[in-house]
Amino acid sequence: MILDSARSNMQFQEDSRICAFVSQRTVFMNSIQPATLVVIDEKIREILYDTNEDVVRYLSQKYPGIVFNDYGSLVLMPGIVDSHVHVNEPGRIEWEGFHTATQAAAAGGVTTIADMPLNSIPPTTTLDNLKVKAREAYAKTFVDVAFWGGVIPGNQHELQSLIDAGIVGFKCFLCPSGVDEFPHVSVDDVKKTILELLPTKTVLAFHAEFERDEKMNSKNDPELYDTFLHTRPDIMELDAVKLICDWCMKYNFRCHIVHLSSAECLTLIKDTKTRGAPLTVETCYHYLVLAAEEIPAGLTEFKCCPPIRKNSNREQLWHGVKNGTLDMIVSDHSPCVPELKTSGNFLTAWGGISSLQFGLSLIWTAARMRGISFFDVSKLLSSQPAKLCGLENRKGDLSVGKDADFVIWDPEESIKIEANDIYHKNKLTPYQGKILFGKVIATVLRGRFVFKEGKICDKPLGKLLLNANILQTIETQ
Ligand SMILES: [Zn+2]
Repeated sequence: MILDSARSNMQFQEDSRICAFVSQRTVFMNSIQPATLVVIDEKIREILYDTNEDVVRYLSQKYPGIVFNDYGSLVLMPGIVDSHVHVNEPGRIEWEGFHTATQAAAAGGVTTIADMPLNSIPPTTTLDNLKVKAREAYAKTFVDVAFWGGVIPGNQHELQSLIDAGIVGFKCFLCPSGVDEFPHVSVDDVKKTILELLPTKTVLAFHAEFERDEKMNSKNDPELYDTFLHTRPDIMELDAVKLICDWCMKYNFRCHIVHLSSAECLTLIKDTKTRGAPLTVETCYHYLVLAAEEIPAGLTEFKCCPPIRKNSNREQLWHGVKNGTLDMIVSDHSPCVPELKTSGNFLTAWGGISSLQFGLSLIWTAARMRGISFFDVSKLLSSQPAKLCGLENRKGDLSVGKDADFVIWDPEESIKIEANDIYHKNKLTPYQGKILFGKVIATVLRGRFVFKEGKICDKPLGKLLLNANILQTIETQ
């Protein structure tokens, strides 16, 4: 039969200009159904909601030489958009870099990452600094890379030029960031920044922890996770979220809360959204998968800020995901060198968790136990983060005209996370040894395979998602 002969054409043809991707379980914005996606010049050009031999015959006549990639009943979803990744290059390339981070992304079905403005040196707080970073990333990435800009005290005059260069939005801290070159902003700085950005369509993302005057120090055993948890209580997040919700309402300005951990903030967030404020909120894999009670003493790879909280908090966060209070799930991939993690001291270890490669499996494993379908998972991991980043015109869903970014995966197959399979530069992760549902079979970036049969493609095919003016200056250097 014709479909079978088409299947025999499945060999990797990287440079094929016209190809089709076929799946019985193709995930669209409003449905899951059999479909054939025709890809020409990096974009989805035609969608046929069928996969039978008539479709193959029709397309073979219309597009002579078309190559069919038929994935049968494997799930074909939009490529994952991870809007919260710390790549750390330049400046801390021993922590992570564009080459390794984007390989990990490709292996995990992630086709776009948005790099955070801090932990690289210099941080992305000026146009010149963005150029330095983009030059480092250029021709080195295996998936598409977008960039966040940073707001720090005194850089308001740089913000418009960063917007003009094509950054996805801005990030600031309401408490110390952990690195000296990215100081946190005051309440006054935020107000000034919002007034400056009000005429634009950009978004201001907040690390939402606010330190009270009395420091939450602890004299208890620093190797116990509870000792650390005690120093970052829920009230730190709640205080910050209150401020952000007020600003968002008062100025009617797009605000985004990154890595929400405390479920105590959910009622306020829900209320603020109900009142029409342009607020979005993300949570992370680790807050939905891990729980404080399960963190062994001394294992500081579980440390991040805000902290992983108790099991009951985790279940409330899932409730927030289900009812739409939480808009999206991201990695907050934030690795470091092992020396900063392995002291066993939760109070002094670097706070950050590596997970870029495993988001789909982590979230799917937890979601399926809670009756959440991969249809919803796709929204949480792809279309919502794409929208946050202003990339919804080209990323995040499967419709005609969008980039042909796909993850093809098997939700019934399981994987075991082992150091040898990890592409992150530093392999330390709290998930090592975990057995998870959901295996990525292939990742397609703008119509070309970047990961297939357990291997990353040879050539970095990723693009930097910046405006043409800045790309031109980088490419000509
Ligand atoms: Zn982060």
